[in-house]
Amino acid sequence: MKPFHIFNTLSRTVEEFRPLDPPNVSLYSCGPTVYLPQHLGNMRAFLFVDALKRALRLSGYRVRHVMNITDVGHMTSDEDAGEDKIEKTARAEGKTPREVADHYTTLFLRDADMLAIERPDVLCRATDHIADMVRLIERILEHGYAYVTPSGVYFDVEKWRGPSRVGRLSRQSLDEQYAGQRLEHSPDKKSPHDFALWVLNQPRHLMQWDSPWGRGYPGWHIECSAMSMKYLGETIDIHTGGTDHIPVHHENEIAQSESATGQPFVRYFVHNAFLVEKEGTKISKSAGKFPLLSDLVASGIHPLAFRLLCFGAKYRSEIVFNDEAIRAAQKNFEYFAEFARTLGDVEAGAPQDSAWAGEYRERFVEALNNDLNTPQALAVALELVAEAYRRDDRRVWNTLSELDSVLGLDLAGLRKAVRAAELPPEVARLIEERQAARRDRNYKLADELRRRLEELGYEVRDTRDSSSYVPKAV
Ligand code: AMP
Ligand code: ZN
Repeated sequence: MKPFHIFNTLSRTVEEFRPLDPPNVSLYSCGPTVYLPQHLGNMRAFLFVDALKRALRLSGYRVRHVMNITDVGHMTSDEDAGEDKIEKTARAEGKTPREVADHYTTLFLRDADMLAIERPDVLCRATDHIADMVRLIERILEHGYAYVTPSGVYFDVEKWRGPSRVGRLSRQSLDEQYAGQRLEHSPDKKSPHDFALWVLNQPRHLMQWDSPWGRGYPGWHIECSAMSMKYLGETIDIHTGGTDHIPVHHENEIAQSESATGQPFVRYFVHNAFLVEKEGTKISKSAGKFPLLSDLVASGIHPLAFRLLCFGAKYRSEIVFNDEAIRAAQKNFEYFAEFARTLGDVEAGAPQDSAWAGEYRERFVEALNNDLNTPQALAVALELVAEAYRRDDRRVWNTLSELDSVLGLDLAGLRKAVRAAELPPEVARLIEERQAARRDRNYKLADELRRRLEELGYEVRDTRDSSSYVPKAV
């Protein structure tokens, strides 16, 4: 394992990353609320996690990743008031909440696949974990940090006050955390900042479950505490989300989890900055119109260009999304793709890269291990390709494919597709056989196969480590 450094929102510093049980890393990410399509801002958050995971793996860590799907309890006010977001869409579209959640989960996964975002080890929906949430609420009640009323079970924020408790993550007072939000003053709440763990007596709500306190449904925050504990244990290494989650959602997750277990909940909170359309204007679902991956694809942009756009900025910097930025990213994508295509006729898996390429791997890893500096890592990958062109030496495939294990452009797939598309099947088969013969040092067979390829019109050029097969000019 290589030393990895990351900015921990808890300490507001870049820290050396020390997981509890190296090389294992437990990682929990707040996932999508599935009542509308995910916009490009949401996808930025998931691309950031994907880069983090892949970078950790390149440095020798073994990551177990859990992400939730919010399909209940997230209210339109982002707090306890208003309507459940899923149910609002269900009413508007004449569907059941489950149908809405299924539909937008499928769309989300389709976009994630197009962006080459690896699936988490566990992708868990809130509505499948109601019993876990109920048990956790019982533990919070047992420890005296919550109280039961006719309208719900509330977390008692006053009890949780104290140094390194309220505001530990956001470094804000409760009033500051809730600034701009209309807090519902349920007369049952002891304080307006108390938040619902379980909501009771809301007959209009479509999704309801039995609980020790009566039929109802969970508040929004409790799902993340319950599911992260279920799959990753009481203390996890890394918790991610967008910076909008620092106040309120993540503060509340800490309060719920630590009041129940008495253990630290998270060792490293890591947050991504926003994708914005103009400086300072966050792209958000509630803003009405927002850009989707399908819009980009419809305008002729490759989805992986958006992946590269995000990779080209630090996760802690805002990204201004506009035409110019996405076109520049598309150019970078084409530059890599074109290079991979030119490798189509070079023998795959040459045992060794040219010596000069090794330095690029080191610099790439170093950039990532320095607070996930993806723009610097991207620059190193672009330089590697430029240098290969300059030297007219394409023996860099092993290095480039390792870099691609984090870049995620599937250059190997592109290469294969080109080879398959350009070579008649008979020729492709002979080349495979000849490569195998050369690997086995069966030069007699390799020579025989060379003759057959030449008869079919292909010129065979061998170097020590690789071969190319070029159609002869007619
Ligand atoms: P939501 O579906 O609204 O719960 O959001 C899912 C994830 O996307 C959360 O981690 C949010 O913090 C993140 N997110 C929402 N909007 C943006 C944005 N404009 N840029 C980056 N991340 C965002
Ligand atoms: Zn969460």
